[in-house]
Amino acid sequence: SLTLMPFIACQAQKTFQMKNKNTFEQKIKVLLKQMTIEEKVGQMNQYNGFWDVTGPAPEGGSAEKKYEHLRKGWVGSMLTVRGVEQVRAVQKIAVEETRLGIPLIIGFDVIHGYKTLSPIPLAEAASWDLNAIKKSAETAAAEASASGINWTFGPMVDISRDARWGRSMEGAGEDPFLGSKIAVARVQGFQGDDLSSPTTIAACAKHFAAYGFSESGKEYNTVDIGTSTLHNIVLPPFKAAVDAGVRTLMNSFNELNGVPATGNVYLQRDILKGKWGFNGFVISDWASLNEMITWGHAKNKREAARLAALAGSDMDMEGYVYIEELAQLVKDGVIQEAILDDAVSRILRVKFELGLFDDPYKYCDEKREKETVGSKKAHEAVLDMAKKSIVLLKNQNKILPLKKEGQKIALIGALASDKNSPLGSWRIAAENNTAVSVLEGMQQYKGNELLFEKGSEFFIGDSNFLQEVKINTSNKSGVKEAVATAKKADVVVMVLGENGFQSGEGRSRTELDLPAIQQELLEEVYKVNPNIVLVLNSGRPLSINWADKHIPAIVEAWHLGTETGNAVAQVLYGDYNPSGKLPMTFPRNVGQVPIYYNYKNTGRPTNKDNNVFWSHYSDVEKTPLYPFGHGLSYTTFEYSDVILNGTSFKIGDDVDVSVTLKNTGKVTGKEVVQLYIRDLYASVTRPVKELKGFELVKLKAGESKTIHFTLNKETLGFYDNDGTYVVEPGDFKVFIGGSSITTLETDFKLVD
Ligand code: BGC
Repeated sequence: SLTLMPFIACQAQKTFQMKNKNTFEQKIKVLLKQMTIEEKVGQMNQYNGFWDVTGPAPEGGSAEKKYEHLRKGWVGSMLTVRGVEQVRAVQKIAVEETRLGIPLIIGFDVIHGYKTLSPIPLAEAASWDLNAIKKSAETAAAEASASGINWTFGPMVDISRDARWGRSMEGAGEDPFLGSKIAVARVQGFQGDDLSSPTTIAACAKHFAAYGFSESGKEYNTVDIGTSTLHNIVLPPFKAAVDAGVRTLMNSFNELNGVPATGNVYLQRDILKGKWGFNGFVISDWASLNEMITWGHAKNKREAARLAALAGSDMDMEGYVYIEELAQLVKDGVIQEAILDDAVSRILRVKFELGLFDDPYKYCDEKREKETVGSKKAHEAVLDMAKKSIVLLKNQNKILPLKKEGQKIALIGALASDKNSPLGSWRIAAENNTAVSVLEGMQQYKGNELLFEKGSEFFIGDSNFLQEVKINTSNKSGVKEAVATAKKADVVVMVLGENGFQSGEGRSRTELDLPAIQQELLEEVYKVNPNIVLVLNSGRPLSINWADKHIPAIVEAWHLGTETGNAVAQVLYGDYNPSGKLPMTFPRNVGQVPIYYNYKNTGRPTNKDNNVFWSHYSDVEKTPLYPFGHGLSYTTFEYSDVILNGTSFKIGDDVDVSVTLKNTGKVTGKEVVQLYIRDLYASVTRPVKELKGFELVKLKAGESKTIHFTLNKETLGFYDNDGTYVVEPGDFKVFIGGSSITTLETDFKLVD
């Protein structure tokens, strides 16, 4: 029957994969027998391909050496080689000039799109829309794979509670449950059902592990977290990615309990490859083998190679450590050849699965590259994702959506006309200045009069991946014009916030307010026209306390990628009803950081009359500015009737929870219904709230729907301090609502 077709097709594919799996394993064994120790080490060696690889290598530099190694079969992978022509050139050397002709795996940081950019990952997470996030990764994979790439260094699944950390922009925020779901969506989007398809690429869950917990949010810093946080907060998204079949992991720059992650046996051998049974491979982070020396863990390169190999780091990214030291270590009998065989098998396995042995040039199709990269389809996909990523933080007096006609609108802020900053950090292949600016987006709505003023430049000169953003703290030349323009307008739209290069790797900040002279500009404009819509740009939560108190409407627009201006304009004018929810808590000021919704209670009562003794600060409210899960819509929703299928459940039983959601406003809208639990007493204390379910629901005006959730063994337990997952009897609370604070409540018991 027709309905059986997908099932049969799926079974057929599984049988096909099983068969291939066996032949792959046999072929790997055969290859290993033929390989010299140097060739094995070569597979474990990855080089950066920064130069034009179709031309001669720059004389005397490291590129010359890389060519030489490539020809000898001493390179297993290259990263950051751009475009089909370049990939073909290096692949040709690997396949045609080396003794065994083993193809290269070609890696690239496809972090939020390749050339056509989707929103930064943190912004995408704000959509809570797993299908959209998966599709976004699919679009990125299609474009990257059409450019010769077959492996991305993504998704970054690091949980981050500290907005000071610049790489918060690359992850899915602070929550392990949401983070795990998004990790899976991204892995599935990149890898598809069939890794051997020329349009899918291998994914890489990074950075293993705990990189997001760099002390004080300072990049590359020490990580010092307890066992409970490691197992319950940090590791779950990695486990979810592994369970979803992610083919590679990248380890991290940080140390954990005094052992750098690259040399960490516990993380890589015991947990990842042991307990979780991961059979793909682990790539080091950039030269992180060398960093083991700077950390003060390895005496020299030889020792770094030994420790990393024993710990299960299978491939050395641009570190020259394995290639220089590993063969000799084996020959000296310090390291068993079996360690190499294991690492090489893992690397070859992924190459087989990608189909590189069948056709090493399958990702090198100039025609497809031309058709796919920058296609209309890619632009439509990133626009769709950009709209879904926007979060309406505040909308007093219904100032939004803007009226489409007869208005004088002042658009203010240098970021409003910026075509570079909205592209965000981590966009190696995309050309500069290729974003649709907010100004361009708004100019398409012709019914209003649009007046634009920069209000002076906030960021000076060019910035890029390696150059810090320079900030204007003194030149206020444009403020006067901006104020004069605002005075004439019915509504002022101000685009303020961070430059796209103020977040990302190496971009930690100690202040989370509006950088440069933007706060001053905002206050000056406010004095003459308080009817302001603030469009925030940022790669992290910002502490816009003053703005929240005074500005009637605030929209978090992150760094939304190529289609930024179109997405923002459609939301401001109500052609798209926003439904994003914050994946990370916004603090009132930086002193509250790290601040997150799933904190632990202290021993102090939370009784209001006793407030002097609360765990609190005496100079700022205890609550965040905007909680995790917060986000408004142009319509309103009402929650009612939380119903459980009982009051007492046996461990192992399903707890069914239902709630009714009604759209009580005037327009169609989407709401992320969120379910949280609290385990009141446990052998290891539990957070005051933990997200355990969510659903994105679309309702017409006046429409209601009952939403069902199931809580079970997988969601009601936790990891104890031995890293064992346990479910304990006890009392639980259930909270349901549209954010982590506005919630309906009920409870149940779990018994043995
Ligand atoms: C980053 C990784 C990235 C790698 C390659 C490192 O500095 O930490 O996330 O994949 O560079 O570009």
